[in-house]
Amino acid sequence: MSKPLNGKTALVTGGSRGIGRAIAERLASDGATVALTYNASKGGADEAVATIKAAGGTAFALQADLADASSIPALFDRLDRELIERNGNAALDIMINNAGNSGWGGLGDATPEAWDAMIAVHARAPFFMAQSALRRLRNPGRIINISSALATRPQPMVPIYSMAKAAINTLSHALAMELGPRGITVNVVAPGWTRTDMNASVRENADIVKAIEGDTALGRFGETSDIASVVAFLASDEGRWVTGQVVEASGGYRL
Ligand code: NAP
Repeated sequence: MSKPLNGKTALVTGGSRGIGRAIAERLASDGATVALTYNASKGGADEAVATIKAAGGTAFALQADLADASSIPALFDRLDRELIERNGNAALDIMINNAGNSGWGGLGDATPEAWDAMIAVHARAPFFMAQSALRRLRNPGRIINISSALATRPQPMVPIYSMAKAAINTLSHALAMELGPRGITVNVVAPGWTRTDMNASVRENADIVKAIEGDTALGRFGETSDIASVVAFLASDEGRWVTGQVVEASGGYRL
């Protein structure tokens, strides 16, 4: 049966859990060969690969700590080897920069070390991932960066995270201009509150949950599949005329 991403290859960072795992599973079910990365959660990555394979898809996992910039060229070398073994070439069609650690803590609690760690994973890594992907991306390719609704509506409880996400929105705009002549689209998907480990502690407080749902037009927390659906659209041929855009997938948070 023909699937929208048959014959395509995709790299999804942070595919061991949460939104990244849902994206990896969705792109694989749409026909792509998926490389998903993990940092600490080898078990989660192996489980994601097993789930994809059980559903008839193709996937493999690669470890990389994206807080460390030097891990990125090494990650792409391993990706090349895996893809050449499977496909006879290392061409990449779709890159999803999703990996990210949560970043609670306001101005008063911040340290230079925490600032560096947050910016390294959320802003520096997508930049250098794009640099390494440049010569591997097949035209017309796709880069999709996972940002946050907080990039454009920052909150005082997460100033560094909000800054880092604003940075990848701007990076995506610049890359869309640079890569447009090659037919490569670059977009941002900006989730609102989505049910993952990242906000498990927030969801323990019923009053906060009620307030978030009350602030959301569609009246609930997002599910990871809600985000994966938007990514799948942008990754497919159906999304070919969308580039340089921030698509907020938040159920209408704080409209
Ligand atoms: P999550 O469930 O906590 O999963 C985070 C993923 O990122 C895991 O796969 C983790 O890998 C990986 N990761 C974290 N630090 C890493 C590092 N240093 N190097 C490599 N990988 C690393 O988070 P999520 O909620 O799915 O978030 C995914 C993306 O969506 C993030 O960019 C986040 O900012 C964004 N987002 C989330 C929400 C939300 O409400 N959940 C809202 C807006 C935006 P390991 O487990 O292997 O360490």
